[in-house]
Amino acid sequence: MQVLVYGAGQLAQMMYLEGCPMGIEVLAVDVKNEQVVHPVTKQTVDITLEQAIENAVALTVEFEHVPEHLLEQASRSGKLLPSIDTVLAGADRVREKRLLTKLGVANCPHQVVTNIHQLDDCVEDLGERLILKASRDGYDGYGQWRLTAHSGLAALKSTLQGLDLATVPLVVEQMVDFDREISIIGVRDKLGNTRVYPLAENLHHKGQLHVSVAPALNITDSQQKQAESIFATLAEGMDYVGVLAIELFQCGEQLLVNEIAPRVHNSGHWTLSGSDVSQFNNHLRAVTGLPLGQSNALNVNAMVNVIGCSSFSSDLLSIPGCHLYWYGKTAREKRKMGHINLTAENYTELGDKLLSLSEYVPLEHFPKLVEEAKRLKSLSVA
Ligand code: ATP
Ligand code: MG
Repeated sequence: MQVLVYGAGQLAQMMYLEGCPMGIEVLAVDVKNEQVVHPVTKQTVDITLEQAIENAVALTVEFEHVPEHLLEQASRSGKLLPSIDTVLAGADRVREKRLLTKLGVANCPHQVVTNIHQLDDCVEDLGERLILKASRDGYDGYGQWRLTAHSGLAALKSTLQGLDLATVPLVVEQMVDFDREISIIGVRDKLGNTRVYPLAENLHHKGQLHVSVAPALNITDSQQKQAESIFATLAEGMDYVGVLAIELFQCGEQLLVNEIAPRVHNSGHWTLSGSDVSQFNNHLRAVTGLPLGQSNALNVNAMVNVIGCSSFSSDLLSIPGCHLYWYGKTAREKRKMGHINLTAENYTELGDKLLSLSEYVPLEHFPKLVEEAKRLKSLSVA
């Protein structure tokens, strides 16, 4: 059984590795040159894209920014899961906000800007602390600008002067003073059955995810219910099939949706070592029509991204419950090179393990590590 994934990065690689034991062969499409490649070696497979589409039982995506003509071709085969509309909603913040509004899902106060002069209205309506996001092709904090005080408005306008906002509008959001960032990842199959993973708490640095802890600590019943209901509303509302990730801001008891990702997600990488059936495995099950697997956490987990560096002591593998996942890329600033999962019996032990990890890695590339270790130890004692 073959599954074709659009995008040939680490997410396709992890799907490939999780597909092997189930007899599912995952092939990837390098969307830049439209070649079919092996998801691990990245070597070109001697087969046309049309042939690979024909051979596959399902087509899916590892990222939402797949060129539209490829998505349309995939959709015409009748095998693309999740659907083209869902992928496009994840790729375009204007569509995404429309979807959230249509389904009545709480999100950040925002406005769509197609002309730079509309920024004055934004400041009037939303206040002077704003985050501006290009509606397309942004990720990991790229394509974003911030306004922190009214006095910065003129400078911001001149920075944005060259952008064609009529073609790629900006979504301007109020800067939300959230208590923390969490995410819910769940999976829905073709029959409408769903499973959700425990919420993850996510620590960002400069717009990029650095550390996730799952299950997130101190989630109240009401927050858990809200998150599950947001997942159900979106997954059912889109007739979604596959893994869906939803990034949330927790503001007191209220959860606001930051963004949705119609795919497996970085904040779900802990599931590779921390749950019975990982997000990658469950995604393949959903799109191929296999029964979904259990999504509970087996223990407590931390996922630490290795970003922009490839030199650290491999002795970190001596930490019990430590698992390294390496993506095989050349190091570049801000590039996700791999991740490290740590599993523990409780949060104090998890904090200790993060501290041990900090001794094996160059800390300038892991700005959240020690802080998070100390926080986990103090929270779990409290
Ligand atoms: P990703 O890599 O998750 O796709 P992204 O570049 O698409 O990131 P967002 O998730 O929208 O962008 O924003 C990145 C980070 O910026 C968020 O995780 C959050 O820390 C911060 N942020 C975004 N929107 C807001 C907001 N309205 N108020 C406060 N902080 C925000
Ligand atoms: Mg995000």
